[in-house]
Amino acid sequence: MSLDLPKTSKEMQDWKWDDYEPFFDHLLNQDINKENIETWMKDWSDLSELIGEVGTDVYVSTTVDTTDEEAKKRFHTFLEDISENSSTKNQELKKKLLESNISPNNFEIPMRAIKSEVELFCEENLPLMTKDSKLSKEYDAVIGAQTIEWEGEEVTITQLSPVLLGTDREKREKAWRLAAERRLKDREKINKIWQKILQIRIQIANNAGFDNYRSWRWEYLQRFDYTPDDCLDFHSGIEKVVKPFVEKLMKTRKEQLGLDVLKPWDLSVDTLNRDPLKPFKDASELEEKCHNIFKAVDEDLGNHFNIMREQKLLDLANRKGKAPGGYCTEYYHRRLPFIFMNAVGTHSDVQTMLHEGGHAFHVFESDQLPYSAQREVGMEFAEVASMSMELLAAPYIAEEHGGFYNSKDANRARIEHLEKTIMFWPYMAVVDGFQHWAYTNPEDAMNPDNCDAEWTRLWKRFQTFDDLDSSEFDDVIATGWHNKLHIYHVPFYYVEYGMAQLGAIQVWGNALENQKEAVEKYRYALAKGGNATLPDLFEAAGAKFEFDEDMLTYAVNLVDSQIKEMNK
Ligand SMILES: [Zn+2]
Repeated sequence: MSLDLPKTSKEMQDWKWDDYEPFFDHLLNQDINKENIETWMKDWSDLSELIGEVGTDVYVSTTVDTTDEEAKKRFHTFLEDISENSSTKNQELKKKLLESNISPNNFEIPMRAIKSEVELFCEENLPLMTKDSKLSKEYDAVIGAQTIEWEGEEVTITQLSPVLLGTDREKREKAWRLAAERRLKDREKINKIWQKILQIRIQIANNAGFDNYRSWRWEYLQRFDYTPDDCLDFHSGIEKVVKPFVEKLMKTRKEQLGLDVLKPWDLSVDTLNRDPLKPFKDASELEEKCHNIFKAVDEDLGNHFNIMREQKLLDLANRKGKAPGGYCTEYYHRRLPFIFMNAVGTHSDVQTMLHEGGHAFHVFESDQLPYSAQREVGMEFAEVASMSMELLAAPYIAEEHGGFYNSKDANRARIEHLEKTIMFWPYMAVVDGFQHWAYTNPEDAMNPDNCDAEWTRLWKRFQTFDDLDSSEFDDVIATGWHNKLHIYHVPFYYVEYGMAQLGAIQVWGNALENQKEAVEKYRYALAKGGNATLPDLFEAAGAKFEFDEDMLTYAVNLVDSQIKEMNK
């Protein structure tokens, strides 16, 4: 007997847990057999999609208007009442499915994840995981309170970042120093949080019977297709191949700025003293021009974007009361994406729009997969969808294709983007390398002095350059691990960006050879959702899931030659 679920999530907006529970129990009370497995799975999937969609709705309403107290209340109720209870029930359903030994069609990949989740589940760890996330909130509170006085006003360190883009060098230095000094004042506080959080993480791994937290986390993040050693190889490749290229970029920067040596506050400013790009006046222009660009990449992708415009699935303009940042989320049951951002007219808004567009296309392209678990994409490939779109769209950002810029500004924007792409890798290697060390040497890492020393060692390995002088800032460098929120919030989650970037560059490389074919492959890979291994997803997209020296050499050479081409 099939489940009598509501047709849309709209009817469920005010449901309490008591309203949901019978549906879960209905699923739990059925015997699974070969005849009913597809219906049972479909019912479970529909239920998950509907709940997920209610969750999306309440979350979106808290971000489009942060003053909406009703929305906030609904969001908290959802988290506490619905979300927690349904994870417990889902856990039971996963166990039931596994114990049945019956698998629906084309479900090997989600099954692999389900098996791992069930195995990893450990009751004792639940309160520890809550403690872990409470400590990361403590970290947020410390960082959030870091303000300084700037031109008579109290501002956050983030609010100072436009100053570092400015052409006034004295101002940049002052802002950089003030920010660094302010951060150092919280050194002890963050050291204490780290010690507590590390202790908990060691305990979590112990409880679940793992040698160390890295092995536990690997399983938790479902990194089935690569090993810690693969990541360490990635780091070595970056040191060998990417670092020398960044070294060259630094030298050029120094020369263009006319300086004897670069200082840490000279790294973001435009080297040719040009004013920031001003691509559009308002959000409707951003929307329209991005629509043109997506159409130029591919007619069908343009049509997807049109659906988003028509169905009001875009909230792009910055306005008072909106939450900061940008994201792409999904209405799981309707299988439609929603993009939220705070556009004010900068080039980085254009970049964000193209990036989130790639995530949105993933939702459209994979919407034919029957079960929600098949559409859950890991970060390593989800970011290939978005980062590839940034690169695939880049040739069309000029006015002649309906985009934003004259050809000179288009090239300027594209070169900046490519340089940033390359410069990200060495930094990523520091962040990732630090965590590999900390969680495999927990006793050493319990002492913050050792953490400072390890971060410094990694910084020297990846991030020191002949033309950059940071000599008077040993303490600032040593405490760099205090400023990366991922270390506290989502341990180990960072290398994914580096991997995805390498995938995206390969997709782009294919497009330079044959645009149509490359985009076809890109779409073909997106259509697989999360229902394939990482090597298979990369291959479907026309790329290899590799991140060694050879692959990095290919990427760096491609970027280098394209930059030269654009500089001609
Ligand atoms: Zn993204």
